[in-house]
Amino acid sequence: MTEANYRRPRKRFGQNFLIDNAIIDGIIAAINPGDEDDIVEIGPGEGALTKRLINRCHRLWGIEIDRDLAALLRDRYSGHERFNLICQDVLEVEFSQFQTAGMLRIAGNLPYNISTPLLFKLLTSKARISDMHFMLQKEVVDRLVAKAGEKPYGRLSVMVQYHCTVESLMTVPPAAFRPQPKVHSAVARLQPYNRPPFLAEDYAMFENLVNAAFQQRRKTLRNSLKRLLPAGAANLDFDLAARPEELSVEQFVDLANQMSSAYGRL
Ligand code: SAM
Repeated sequence: MTEANYRRPRKRFGQNFLIDNAIIDGIIAAINPGDEDDIVEIGPGEGALTKRLINRCHRLWGIEIDRDLAALLRDRYSGHERFNLICQDVLEVEFSQFQTAGMLRIAGNLPYNISTPLLFKLLTSKARISDMHFMLQKEVVDRLVAKAGEKPYGRLSVMVQYHCTVESLMTVPPAAFRPQPKVHSAVARLQPYNRPPFLAEDYAMFENLVNAAFQQRRKTLRNSLKRLLPAGAANLDFDLAARPEELSVEQFVDLANQMSSAYGRL
């Protein structure tokens, strides 16, 4: 197969390759990889980030679903002992397979179609992850960093901010990619807490509460939570006339903790 064949971007895999060196440098500077770092890169593609990471880490795993690109990367980096390529759907990858002495760092210019399920999957491995740097659609990054009362604030903001500090580092225009996406992108840094600052006593209750609340974001909490509050909400010291988008992460945790004390665990 020729290089030209390898490199025809596949829309179904969300392939928008980074071609702007200043942006690539900016992402690498933000990651600031070091000799001790064990890094997992999601969707290395043609290697725009890989080639800058590979000499600045202890180990680098690339997870690439596209077999042609995986073959290209294996060919190109076969001489690098520290590099391993896993040709698999990242949503099916078992992160416990990465044997490391310390924590993992995760990075990638993510395929946009899987970004939300991927973030939720990574949160389940957060105890092993020191940080994550991702290029995402700007609209997704806006949701990740949004605070209560802001328009993009929703389930994703609450669930990710429960587990991590989140920063938006830079906005990236469509011209930085080939082919150009229709929308702007942005780079986010997520750093999981060792221990969340506001701790849900029953995590399943917290998750269900946040899901139920944002399924009907225009409704008051009292209305959306009828299913979760079988006996009514009489025992709760909480303003249930509020709408979900007005509640901070701390308030969601407080409400979930009151619900589990009043009604037991789920
Ligand atoms: N890192 C490269 C860059 O910045 O130019 C490519 C980024 S491109 C937006 C996304 C990459 O993720 C593609 O190489 C694509 O084939 C790969 N990909 C898409 N879906 C994937 C999945 N489910 N698991 C692993 N890789 C995936």
